[in-house]
Amino acid sequence: MSIRNNIKGFLGETVVAGRLGWSHLFGYKGKVLRNIYIPKDDGTTTEIDLLFITCKGIFVIESKNYIGYIFGTDTNQHWTVCVYKGKGFWGQNKTQKFRFFNPIKQNKFHIKWLKNYLSSDIEMFSCIVFSDNCELKSIDISSSTATIVCNGSALNHSIRKLWDEYPDTLGEDQIDELFLKLKSLAKQSADVKKKHIESINKKENRIFCPYCGKPLVLRTASRGAYAGKQFYGCSGYPKCRYIKNIG
Ligand SMILES: [Zn+2]
Repeated sequence: MSIRNNIKGFLGETVVAGRLGWSHLFGYKGKVLRNIYIPKDDGTTTEIDLLFITCKGIFVIESKNYIGYIFGTDTNQHWTVCVYKGKGFWGQNKTQKFRFFNPIKQNKFHIKWLKNYLSSDIEMFSCIVFSDNCELKSIDISSSTATIVCNGSALNHSIRKLWDEYPDTLGEDQIDELFLKLKSLAKQSADVKKKHIESINKKENRIFCPYCGKPLVLRTASRGAYAGKQFYGCSGYPKCRYIKNIG
């Protein structure tokens, strides 16, 4: 499945789920909110991709649309995405590495501010979901509890494992109450797709140009032989013309 379809699928599912109110996202009953902007003490906000409010607590879902091999542990400051660059002269695999902020730490901030906003210590589950174009090569999250790191296609299965481990703690009234309280933090906009593209390029997800150090952004070729294909391009363009093709 292409990354584009992957994103569409993820969005389609959650947009529909949001409309239904009570939903059965990933096979579980709960309420779904997308693109929630949680206020922080300094007056700015932090953005959460998706919240799934259930009888077990709140699943705080952060989606990552990188392409490549992913390496990291829960204690690392940065994780690495390794992009395959073809065969070298001796037949060895050539790769290029990019760093990004540890998504477990990133989502911990989200959870911290969400708990702060709700003034509540209800159970929250941290879910880091990579696109199916990523291969999770070496991920060690053994010192984190109530945490999932998986590909999109494995999310259902991963939620199931946590679901069975944790007791029901919220009734339907409490779920409704949380939903209404958090709903006001969802950015109202018709153009869901545009927002999602923005979120792909948002600050916390940045990876950096190996030549000039500026953030790379995910772009789609508009013409030529590669029209429609996605690539990483340097945000320093046209000064820096670094691009990394994908696939
Ligand atoms: Zn550059």
